[in-house]
Amino acid sequence: MQRLHHHIAGQPREPHGGRWLEVFDPANARAYAQVAAGTAADVEDAIAAADAAAPAWAALAPSERARWLEKLADALEARLVDFAHAESRDGGKPMRLAREIEIPRAVANLRFFAHAATQFASESHHGQAGLNYTLRTPLGAVATISPWNLPLYLFTWKIAPALAAGNTVVAKPSEVTPVTATMLAELATQIGLPAGVLNVVHGVGAEVGEALVTDARIKAVSFTGSTAVGRRIASLAAPLLKKVSLELGGKNPTLVFADSDWREHLDVLVRSAFQNSGQICLCGSRMLVEQSIHAEFRDALVERAIALRVGDPIDEDNQLGPLVSQAHFDKVVAALERARAEGGQVLCGGAALDRPGWFVAPTVIDGLGPDCATNRDEIFGPVVTLQPFDSDEHALALANASDYGLAASVWTRDLNRAHRMAAQLRTGMVWINTWMMRDLRTPFGGTGASGLGREGGMEAMRFFSEAKNVGIALP
Ligand code: NAD
Repeated sequence: MQRLHHHIAGQPREPHGGRWLEVFDPANARAYAQVAAGTAADVEDAIAAADAAAPAWAALAPSERARWLEKLADALEARLVDFAHAESRDGGKPMRLAREIEIPRAVANLRFFAHAATQFASESHHGQAGLNYTLRTPLGAVATISPWNLPLYLFTWKIAPALAAGNTVVAKPSEVTPVTATMLAELATQIGLPAGVLNVVHGVGAEVGEALVTDARIKAVSFTGSTAVGRRIASLAAPLLKKVSLELGGKNPTLVFADSDWREHLDVLVRSAFQNSGQICLCGSRMLVEQSIHAEFRDALVERAIALRVGDPIDEDNQLGPLVSQAHFDKVVAALERARAEGGQVLCGGAALDRPGWFVAPTVIDGLGPDCATNRDEIFGPVVTLQPFDSDEHALALANASDYGLAASVWTRDLNRAHRMAAQLRTGMVWINTWMMRDLRTPFGGTGASGLGREGGMEAMRFFSEAKNVGIALP
């Protein structure tokens, strides 16, 4: 069985403790690989390697760091189909999604931040007393901790700005989907990236993640994952006064107004609900629909949800694959039972598929109000609820009835209303008549239980650098 090693100082490493975790294929629920079960001793090695490599990497000209990132992007692009295949098998992700969107986006992340390295500039402030300018210097060794839902896409979204800004990295991918991060670390060695610049340690979060967060040599932690773990990391980092960026859960509203071109946009609306079986933090899981079109919209959505082809993710004809793990499958199935117990009307789906693997049918639930757990807790599966509204204020109140505040989409032809909604929605991102329209320069992140800080573009470059102001008197 394939074994996935740590990758430390440019070399594959066995785990010190000699323990391995099983890695499952979600499409058949069978273990197909093993990943190193890291311990504090492995984390120690990785941090030591990153720390040792930090001064030389920071001293490189930004254009040289950019060249390394470009080289890594080229190497990844050349293996795009292999990586897409590996991602699809490891996480149950539809092959087409991996090949057409997620691995290309990982390539784009590396290229985007290669350019950012050469474009990053600092501020200067001219005043009466004199001139101030800001120095932006690398932090040193930093940690990135990423989730299973977009494994390489989010892994590269973090390591690329960290490296571009001149830091060395210890990266911890999810133990549930460790394959493509390991493959990328191997590529880094193949292209000759200096040893210790990018290290990967595997293992469970409570052991490896916490050892990383609490080590004084790690100067910043960039985390994407659940709100519960984000809170835990914040509580560990706070007494150390360590910089953290937290991208957490969501319960995103989709606001569909009667005047919108919703019929023409039904493809996008269905994708916003069900892409990657709802396992994307940006999926719209609460569909708020104007009362006058509720019945028509509901019937159209249900018809499309039933028509989605769910099956083996490697088969490119399938649109949805399984959920990622037994634990996550159990959580989603329990959420469906709870929705019924709360009085929800399950219009389609509502159950696991009768086949091996962790498949759940696309599900639409009607008849539940904003206060029930189904509409408050993140489910992170192919499950959406419908709630009718009868005015702009009502739509806004329903949309904002959430502890989360990641993203929202608004569907209307009324431009004034669109801008009003965008200003008043309590989320970090709003899309008007579109969903998940990504531009890597824009601030990415959420408010409330969805996190702290922003990623993307220069926000990420600033996070991964230290600002020092220098003031010069001009007599
Ligand atoms: P998770 O929080 O369980 O795990 C995320 C990562 O943290 C994994 O690598 C895990 O090993 C590690 N970890 C777990 N416990 C830890 C601890 N105590 N200390 C340090 N690290 C620890 O999340 P998940 O289940 O892998 O991912 C799904 C969640 O991620 C969902 O809630 C989803 O909304 C969220 N997410 C958010 C965004 C965003 O940009 N806001 C993007 C993708 C996913």
